[in-house]
Amino acid sequence: MKIGVMGGTFDPIHIGHLAVAEEARRLLSLNKVIFMPAGHPYFKDGTMITPAEDRVRMLELTLIGQPDYALSRLEVERQGPSYAVDSITKIKAQMDPMDEVFFIMGWDSVMSLPLWYEADRLIRLCRIVAAPRPGYPQPDLLSLALDLPGITERVIVMERPLIDISASLIREKVRRGLSIDGMVLPDVSVYIREKGLYQGKP
Ligand code: ATP
Repeated sequence: MKIGVMGGTFDPIHIGHLAVAEEARRLLSLNKVIFMPAGHPYFKDGTMITPAEDRVRMLELTLIGQPDYALSRLEVERQGPSYAVDSITKIKAQMDPMDEVFFIMGWDSVMSLPLWYEADRLIRLCRIVAAPRPGYPQPDLLSLALDLPGITERVIVMERPLIDISASLIREKVRRGLSIDGMVLPDVSVYIREKGLYQGKP
């Protein structure tokens, strides 16, 4: 089996995430893609992220009736910080040793890998699938290899899709009372409205 894992805050999950997951699934013939939201509230870029319960619910609403996708509560159920390397270790422990894991992330995240906890171990546990992201350059694998030797053979660089959506843009639009139609699934849009999410949030 070939399993894709996509980690993130998913605050909220959007069409960009889905398009990236779908393209990786198609390109690599993945049997499943697991969305793994990050755990307990913490500050990301100076902003407190939304409680895990809401972020998980929006993922559930998005993934209903999608047999190729799954949701992992591993990081939201864990106390304290969760590191990708620990989560992937746990996911692999439940799999057949022959199964392969592909960690899917945007080009922006790939460039930050040298800062990740035990990144050298992470890239030995799973291959990295790098999705393009408008506004970010294609990762320079040779310069990354100066910090993470061996990474050039572990990264699969995708050329598509190119979707200019970010969760921060969505939060900003909600805060300003603008439409987010086409950026998140309709049920997520309704959830955001009903729960009053992102009202005062940059
Ligand atoms: P924020 O705007 O709050 O930083 P985000 O839109 O980047 O959020 P995350 O949940 O932080 O969403 O992202 C999870 C993963 O998805 C990251 O690896 C990120 O690079 C990737 N990603 C998010 N949006 C896109 C996109 N439009 N295209 C490609 N990759 C994306």
